[in-house]
Amino acid sequence: MKPLTGSAPSQCQRKGLHIGLGRDLHRLVHGRPFILGGVTLPCDFGEDGHSDGDVLTHAITDALLGAASTDIGELFPNTDPKWKGAPSIEMLKKAWGLVSAEGWSIINIDCVVSCEKPAVLPFRNQIRDSLAGALCINIEQVFLKGKTGEGIGIIGEGRAVEALAVCLLEQKSEK
Ligand code: MG
Repeated sequence: MKPLTGSAPSQCQRKGLHIGLGRDLHRLVHGRPFILGGVTLPCDFGEDGHSDGDVLTHAITDALLGAASTDIGELFPNTDPKWKGAPSIEMLKKAWGLVSAEGWSIINIDCVVSCEKPAVLPFRNQIRDSLAGALCINIEQVFLKGKTGEGIGIIGEGRAVEALAVCLLEQKSEK
């Protein structure tokens, strides 16, 4: 097998394509809203957290920043009182503003939210519309699936909600 170093730039490098991966998990507690992608779902419990706890928006923010080689913890430390209770969709807009200013544009975002309750599917398009609006992209560029934990582990026992997001960015101009 040939060494990987010193090889010609890959097709992705030549085209300026970067993949970003984001993941987040929040505990579920009573007395908090259940917010996904800036949309509050009807539920008698919600995500615990320093901000509003919007686990999906955090995962997407992490993915977009990851594609641009930074991470959400650097930009929005959970020790910063400025972000206590803050709407995560505003954090997403701020993060994307920084990344897009570097010449990046979004090709697509795909996400998975895992929780035992509530059902995510009835709110899919509302959530996609909210995220697309925040990122100034078309709804077709962001997709979302809902999964359960099959009754197993912290997801299945209804103690936490997890979100995974992957994005593909294209750099159209040099910074
Ligand atoms: Mg989070």
